[in-house]
Amino acid sequence: MTCFLCRTCGAQFAPSDRPPERCPVCEDARQYVPEDGQRWITPEALAADHRTEIRAEGDYTGVGVEPGFAIGQRALLVPHGGRRLMWDCIPLLDEPGAEAVAAAGGLSAIAISHPHYYAGMVEWARRFGCPVLLHADDAEWIMRPDPAVELWDGETRELGDGLTLIRCGGHFAGGTVLHDAGAGALLSGDIVQVIPDRGHVGFMYSYPNLIPLPGAAVTAIAEALEPYAFETVYGAWWDRIVRRDGSAIVRRSAERYVRALRGQLP
Ligand SMILES: [Zn+2]
Ligand SMILES: [Zn+2]
Repeated sequence: MTCFLCRTCGAQFAPSDRPPERCPVCEDARQYVPEDGQRWITPEALAADHRTEIRAEGDYTGVGVEPGFAIGQRALLVPHGGRRLMWDCIPLLDEPGAEAVAAAGGLSAIAISHPHYYAGMVEWARRFGCPVLLHADDAEWIMRPDPAVELWDGETRELGDGLTLIRCGGHFAGGTVLHDAGAGALLSGDIVQVIPDRGHVGFMYSYPNLIPLPGAAVTAIAEALEPYAFETVYGAWWDRIVRRDGSAIVRRSAERYVRALRGQLP
């Protein structure tokens, strides 16, 4: 039995004898099945020609996969009670990567913004004996159920050490961001998208398929973040960082988005 991974989105599936028939995450309107069809890979084959890349990312440590795989997921390690909270997750768990994370104190928990980053969450959780915190509104997208998965519901969840999970919705119903009060940072996945113009951020229902969100959903994201102050915004991929004025940038970007939907282009 193997826990196959989808090559396109990086989701890992429950153990099976042969590759799954389909990937619901890719068949969803927010993702896509490649023109040449759905393809799968075993964790062993992935580890044979990929490795975890661990390096500084702003004030945190980033964990990615090299060379790039699936949607290029990158996780962040956030100080949390002497250990690290893994924010978002990657498809690969290899020995050098696991040892580096263990040397940094191991994982207290894994918290994930939305289903495109569920990836290899169960592998990492089992390795470090920690829970995976997912918003209950996205439970249908869990392709590899496991006792380590702990669903939370409602709008916020305090994790201690100034860390708060905030449900913003938008891209996914349970779309979540992490506020780090001590660092003055928002870890946003692609719920709030860091874009090339660092004076603004973006919001979408589907990024690859260019499906926008309704204005009310974008206003709701800005309102959910209104009580939280932050200078920095860490996006979903390497080097996607807004370095200053984050709160104001999110606010004015949401306003610009809603104006654009009404026909008022910048
Ligand atoms: Zn997929
Ligand atoms: Zn996404």
